[in-house]
Amino acid sequence: MSTGKPKPVVALYGLTCCAGCQLEILNLEDDLLDILGHINLVQFRMGSSATHPGPYDVCFVEGSVTNEAELTRLKELRENSKILVAMGACATTGGVNAIRNGRNIEEFKQSVYGDASHVNTFPQILPLKSHVKIDYELQGCPISGQEFVEFLTALLTGAEPREKNYAVCVECRMKENVCLMKEGELCLGPITRAGCGALCPSLGFPCEGCWGPVPQANVESEIDMFSQKGASFDLVVRKFRMFNASAEEFMKQLKRRLNIEWL
Ligand code: SF4
Ligand code: SF4
Ligand code: SF4
Repeated sequence: MSTGKPKPVVALYGLTCCAGCQLEILNLEDDLLDILGHINLVQFRMGSSATHPGPYDVCFVEGSVTNEAELTRLKELRENSKILVAMGACATTGGVNAIRNGRNIEEFKQSVYGDASHVNTFPQILPLKSHVKIDYELQGCPISGQEFVEFLTALLTGAEPREKNYAVCVECRMKENVCLMKEGELCLGPITRAGCGALCPSLGFPCEGCWGPVPQANVESEIDMFSQKGASFDLVVRKFRMFNASAEEFMKQLKRRLNIEWL
């Protein structure tokens, strides 16, 4: 039965990324059909070619800002949206796009494209919140479809979406997994924000940190633990930078502990 109340106008946009977070939403299938009964989804390139100029009640943005055109686009979306949500690691921490930070971008461009004079890209990738005000963040590479549903449900019912301010280890222990660190693996679970349900450790793989830093992450202790397990300097740096090279909470402590100038 219709309440006569207009449904909130919702848009999903992508900047530079693999679009895997939008794919995760498309994969919600039945849940997505339920959601569509409660919102007016006007822009979702994974599901429809329709476009909508705004304004939006809620706008989700995945991907990173990698050039001036994307920066302009992000600012327009901010102006056009009551609630702006950064979605996925590319948007919340820079994600894999930020691996370039502190490195020689010209060398990277040349090794990928050869003559790269036509490639116009920023040398440094920052989280979206460094460019515009962001109201909420959904972490992960990709995000969790379940978290997306919980988040949207909270918004639609007027509740404040719950932030998970604890580490992946908490979810891992709740699943009664055997800790992989005891078996010599290098796991970023102690310093990574929960939300994925300890997906990787539950499958026997160490956490690589894609949900980004948990508040007050003790990175220096984690580095010490990795070193005690015989991890090389290069391996430690690579692990910390895979998804979080622009996460200040990680990089500051990594720089100090390992005395790395270029970070
Ligand atoms: S966060 Fe990961 S899955 Fe999502 S768009 Fe970026 S690279 Fe793709
Ligand atoms: S396996 Fe990783 S996430 Fe699980 S308890 Fe051990 S350190 Fe934490
Ligand atoms: S366990 Fe770590 S790497 Fe795996 S999905 Fe969760 S946060 Fe990402």
